[in-house]
Amino acid sequence: MRRDDTARLLDEATPPQDGAALLAALLRPELAELRAYVPEAGRFDARLDANEAPDMLSQAAQRRLAEAMAPRGWQRYPDARALELRAAIAERCGATVDEVLVGCGSDDVITLLLAALGRPREGAAAATIVTTSPSFVMYRTSARARGFEVIEVPLDEDWDLDVAALRRAIAVGRPNIVFIATPNNPTGGVMSEARLDAVIAAAPNALVVLDEAYVDYAPRSAIALRRRYPNVAVLRTLSKVGFAALRVGWLIGSAALVREVDKARPPFNLPAPSQRAATVVLRELGEEVARVVDFVAGERTRVAAELVALGLDVAPSAANFLWVGTWRPAAEVHRALADRGVLVRSFHAGGGRLANRLRISLGLRAENDRLLAEMARLR
Ligand code: PMP
Repeated sequence: MRRDDTARLLDEATPPQDGAALLAALLRPELAELRAYVPEAGRFDARLDANEAPDMLSQAAQRRLAEAMAPRGWQRYPDARALELRAAIAERCGATVDEVLVGCGSDDVITLLLAALGRPREGAAAATIVTTSPSFVMYRTSARARGFEVIEVPLDEDWDLDVAALRRAIAVGRPNIVFIATPNNPTGGVMSEARLDAVIAAAPNALVVLDEAYVDYAPRSAIALRRRYPNVAVLRTLSKVGFAALRVGWLIGSAALVREVDKARPPFNLPAPSQRAATVVLRELGEEVARVVDFVAGERTRVAAELVALGLDVAPSAANFLWVGTWRPAAEVHRALADRGVLVRSFHAGGGRLANRLRISLGLRAENDRLLAEMARLR
């Protein structure tokens, strides 16, 4: 190119914009409606807001995990295919290794599914997901951040699936993915089997993701539906049974699905220490996990009964948290508890029937007692 051509092109170029205007021109418009996930800051005596398991890992288990995570070959990338870990998961879930996709938490797996299954239906500008309301917020957030349309179908008055409304949403929205959490977060209940079956049958052209993040605390799993329906995949995680720090989640789906979604996966998405520690959890720490789950289930019964005795409404829970209807606006109760050192999660921003609901994770006995004492004071 000649010198004066270059000068002319430079003259014609848009003048430099300030940073904000430049970003506005580049960002996905959907981001304007989203907020970054920021956990509540501050020191609390009892953090019962994130559905983590109580801190009760034995010394022996902690030593075993530290040993598994000890540095070996820092200069090397982790196993890109996470074969050991996937083999341990496959064995645990009754699947084959090629039916397992691992992610940095199930959050990561959700984003990979959205990255891969994003082809808009014929005549539509964007792909769509269908999910329930309320449910795990990352389905909506991750989908919107990738330009998907999101249809949220309210749960019925018992916080179970509204099959007729879901059928309509699926027929009209033609979703690529239907996300259903069972047990559901934040409502805690398992979805009834017959309704799940009906929703899956109504969505033969979509992938139906059954998110079983809390299945260890539940009386039953829906994983058998995978055998009945080729379009069903199941999401699981180690986060809720005591290992949230590892960030290990996975999908069990058809080998064809896993093969395709794997193309959208950054090859080293799971750090080597997490791969090794998670393999130890799955292969060797079953009794530790069972101890946590039994303890939490016991506390769930005890704390629920005490809250009911205080005049609160508590939905039946198959998870490690309770979905509690408050006497006064949830925002007020949430603030008062936080001021007294107990952090729970409020859903009042959702409005309507959520304005009086709190989600309370079950912690150690002393933490739960503290919650109960503060609640009694607020009555
Ligand atoms: N699914 C559900 C239903 C959840 O509640 C959560 C965590 N809040 C996740 C998935 C994400 O879990 P993780 O990324 O820690 O595996």
